[in-house]
Amino acid sequence: AIEGSRAPTSNRPLNRIKHIIAVASCKGGVGKSTVAVNLAFTLAKLGGKVGIMDADIYGPSLPILVQPEDKIVQYKDGRIIPLEYQSVKLMSFGYINPESAIMRGPMIANIMNQLLMETDWGDLDYLVIDMPPGTGDIQLTICQTVSLDAAVIVTTPQQLSFRDVIKGIQMFDKVSVPCVALVENMAYFEPNDILNKRYYLFGHGKGQKIASDYGIPFMESFPLDPDLCRWSDSGTPAVLALSESKVAQLYKSLASAI
Ligand code: ADP
Repeated sequence: AIEGSRAPTSNRPLNRIKHIIAVASCKGGVGKSTVAVNLAFTLAKLGGKVGIMDADIYGPSLPILVQPEDKIVQYKDGRIIPLEYQSVKLMSFGYINPESAIMRGPMIANIMNQLLMETDWGDLDYLVIDMPPGTGDIQLTICQTVSLDAAVIVTTPQQLSFRDVIKGIQMFDKVSVPCVALVENMAYFEPNDILNKRYYLFGHGKGQKIASDYGIPFMESFPLDPDLCRWSDSGTPAVLALSESKVAQLYKSLASAI
């Protein structure tokens, strides 16, 4: 667990947030946004005041994964009022502009900065930032403008994905942000009709090795779960809909690593 609160930074708007956590992956489609959302709602279920910032301006996922009834973004005193779902504050470029963005890098960085700094997050225990995939300029900009407390890295078990995980770990290392957890997502399938059977579809063991090689204190394999996918697609975080499930339990242990 992270001790105490964040040191004050020059970014005054974020000073009322105790912990800022980045959820990152180096490839798209590995389930990074799903992990960010379900981690955030688990932290909220455990009693925290939580916000989610979707920093993927090109391909925002939050508007699909979390669909509050009131989807109109309001502005007050020059600040953006975040949307809310079950008391979790939400901000995504996709709530403001549902069309997908076709823009050059510097403009994207500007929008991202504005969304992060001008949103009225209020007092939060945790802000979970769903990072854009990759380790380029935009990711480094986020790391440098926000004083991140910790990073959670999400990957799938394929070799191709792991190769890039190391790049991600190195990026956070460079900016002195500790990687506190590695999630190997969609690692196995557990059929309902055969007890205690797991199919590791893409190999097994690599996540554990990377975690120990790079000193990441928490590593867990998450199953490929059709129910989770269904709930995600319908706009309700699976940890709320399936609160007694094994997946909800796994998210609880991930939250305890933060
Ligand atoms: P990323 O943010 O890495 O691009 P997403 O979180 O958007 O990935 O997930 C991509 C797709 O995979 C979504 O349809 C999501 O519901 C699905 N998905 C993510 N994790 C799982 C899982 N553990 N089991 C089943 N489907 C998943």
